[in-house]
Amino acid sequence: MQELVVTILLGLLALGGLGMLLWGRSPKSNMTKRQKKTLLRIVEATALLLLLQLLPPSLFEALGPAGFWVRLGLYLLDYLLIGYDILLKAAKGIKNRQVFDECFLMAVATVGAFALALFARTGDYTEAIAVMLFYQVGEWFQSYAVGKSRRNITELMDIRPDYANVEQDGQLLQVDPDEVSIGTVIVVRPGEKVPIDGVVAEGSSSLDTAALTGESLPREVKEGDEIVSGCVNLQGLLKVRTTKEFGESTVSKILDLVENASSRKSKSEDFISKFARIYTPVVCFAALALALLPPLVSLLVGAAPQWGQWVYRALTFLVISCPCALVISIPLSFFAGIGGASNAGVLVKGSNYLETLSQTKTVVFDKTGTLTQGVFEVNAVHHSPLREEQLLEYAALAESSSSHPISKSLQRAWGKDIDRSRVTDVQEYSGSGVTALVDGVPVAAGNQKLMERLGIDYHNCHCPGTIIHMAVGGAYAGHIVISDVVKPQAKEAIAALADAGVWETVMLTGDRKKAADAVAQSLGIQQVYSELLPAGKVEKVEELLRRETGKGKLAFVGDGINDAPVLGRADIGIAMGAMGSDAAIEAADVVLMDDDPRKIAKAIKISRKCLAIVYQNIVFAIGVKVLCLVLGALGLANMWLAIFADVGVMVLAVLNAIRALFVKNL
Ligand code: ADP
Ligand code: MG
Repeated sequence: MQELVVTILLGLLALGGLGMLLWGRSPKSNMTKRQKKTLLRIVEATALLLLLQLLPPSLFEALGPAGFWVRLGLYLLDYLLIGYDILLKAAKGIKNRQVFDECFLMAVATVGAFALALFARTGDYTEAIAVMLFYQVGEWFQSYAVGKSRRNITELMDIRPDYANVEQDGQLLQVDPDEVSIGTVIVVRPGEKVPIDGVVAEGSSSLDTAALTGESLPREVKEGDEIVSGCVNLQGLLKVRTTKEFGESTVSKILDLVENASSRKSKSEDFISKFARIYTPVVCFAALALALLPPLVSLLVGAAPQWGQWVYRALTFLVISCPCALVISIPLSFFAGIGGASNAGVLVKGSNYLETLSQTKTVVFDKTGTLTQGVFEVNAVHHSPLREEQLLEYAALAESSSSHPISKSLQRAWGKDIDRSRVTDVQEYSGSGVTALVDGVPVAAGNQKLMERLGIDYHNCHCPGTIIHMAVGGAYAGHIVISDVVKPQAKEAIAALADAGVWETVMLTGDRKKAADAVAQSLGIQQVYSELLPAGKVEKVEELLRRETGKGKLAFVGDGINDAPVLGRADIGIAMGAMGSDAAIEAADVVLMDDDPRKIAKAIKISRKCLAIVYQNIVFAIGVKVLCLVLGALGLANMWLAIFADVGVMVLAVLNAIRALFVKNL
C-alpha cells in the first residue's frame, strides 16, 4: 500500500518537475540558471528513485551477495545526487562553528535514516532520499518565489538609466549619467528613460511615470516643466537642462531607498530570527534526548531498549522540527508587501515601517503642499503705498532664494526674470517669512509673526486666504492676499482614512487660523492647530504622541524642509515625493511618489494586508509544527508525514506571502 502511494507520488513529482523544466525554457518563466540546474537534479533523482522503486527485488537477489551492495550503491548514488550540496553546507556549518541550521537538521536526519535502514537491514533507503528530495523541492520553490517577488522590486530598479545623451558638435554622445554636471542639456529621445532630474528646455512630449508613481496615465510636459528621472519619454524629443547631479536625482534616491529597505527589520522578523537561533539547538538536543533516554530507562528497568524505534522517532522529530516555513515566509511577506506598495507608488523604507504603518490610528497633516497644492495665486494687494507691480517686484526679489511654495508663487506672479545680484543679506525665518536687502533697501515679506518680530505695525486683513505682509525700508507697505487650492483628491483622501481604520485626523499649519479652519472644514479634518512655528509643530506632535494610549501609532504627513523634524519625531513620517523637499524625503519613513494624499489610506491598507499575512503564516506554521512534533514524539508520525507537513506548510506559507504583492484593489 505505502509502496504504491510512494510510487504515485514520485511519478507525479517527476512529471511536475519535467513540466517545470519545459516551462523554464520559455523566457517568461524568469528562472535563473541555478534554479534550472537544481530542477534538473530534482527530476533526475526522482526518476532514478522511481526506477529503483519499480525494479523487481528478484533482480538484485539474482546477483547473490553482490546484489545487496549494488542496490545500496545505486540508492547511495541517488542520495548523493540530490543531497550532496546540503551535506557540504552542513559540513561547512560545523567547520565554521555555526552548527545548528536547517542543513544540519536535514543531514543528520537523512544520514541517520540511511544508517538505520542499513543496520536494521530493512533495505528501505527510499525514506532518506525522499526527505532530501522534498526538502530540495521546497528550497527550490522558495528560491523561485523569492526571485519572483524580488524581481517585482527590481522592476523598480529597472528605472536605473544606463546612459545620458549629451549633444556635442552636433552629435549625440552617450555618457555615464554620473558624469553629467548640473546645467548640462541632455537629450531624451522617445522610448528612453529620463536619466537625471531637470527642466524641459525644448520640446514637448508625454511621459510614462508608472514606474515611479504606479499611475498609468501619461503626464504631458512642455518647455519649462520640471521632470524627474525614471520617467520614460513616450513621444517627442526632449531637451532637458539638468537641475541635479545623478546621485541627487530622484532615480538614485529611490534606488537607495529600495536597496536599503530590506535591511530595516521589523519586530516580527527580529523575533523569528532570534527564535530560529534558539529553537534549532533546542530541537537538536530534544531529539538526542528522545533517542537516548527512553532506551536507557528501558535498560534500567530491565526491558528491551528498542534502540531502532527511538532513534527513528528522534530522526523524524528532527525532520519535523525544521523551521523553514517560518524563517522563509515572514521576510518574504514583508518583501512582497514593500514590493506591492512600491508598485502602487508608495515607497516604504523598511519592513519595520510597514509594521508601524499597519497600527496607525492618528494621521497628522501639514497643510501647505500636503493637503493643498502649494501653488498660490495672488488675489489682491491691500493698503499699499506702492503700485501693485512694484510691491510684487520687491516680494519676488526678496523671496528669490527661498524654496517655500509661497516664494515660488510670488516669483511666478511677478513673472519676470530675477536678477539675483540686486538681492543681498537674505534671512529666512522658518514659518514666518523672509527679510532681504533689495537694491540696498530692507524688505520683509511674511506673516504677522514676522511683522511683530520686526516691530512693524500692520493692517489686519479680513479676507480669507494667506496674507503676506510687506515692509519696505522699515515701513509697512501693505499686504498681498494669496490663496492656495486644496488638492482635488484631498477630501476623498481624508474620507478613505476613516475607511482604513484611522480614528483621528489632525492638521498642523503655520498659516493663519482663518485660512487653516476653512481648509480643515472643507476637507472634514477633525482637529486644527494653526499659526504654529516649526518648533510648535514638533511640540504639538509630541503632545499628541504622549496622549496616545494603547498601541495606536501616529503618522505625520508633510512636504517641506520645516517638516523634517516632525517627520522624524512621529511614529511614522510620510513625505510627498514629487513636490516635497529633499530634507523631508530623507527624514520620512514612507514616501508618496505622486503626492496623492489618497495613497496614505492605500499605504495603510497595504500594510494591514501584509501584516495579516505575516500573522497568518506565523500561526499556521507554528501550529502545524507543534502538532507534528507531538505526533512525532508519540511515534504517530513517520518521516514521510514529517517532510510532507514541512514542505507543504512552507509552500502554502510562501504562496500566502506572495499575496502581499497584490494590492491593486485595496
Ligand atoms: P505650512 O505649515 O502650512 O506648511 P509653513 O510653516 O511653511 O506653512 O509657513 C507658515 C506661514 O509662514 C505661511 O503661511 C506664511 O505666512 C509664512 N511664511 C513661511 N515662509 C514664508 C516665505 N518664504 N515667504 C512668506 N511667508 C512665509
Ligand atoms: Mg508645508
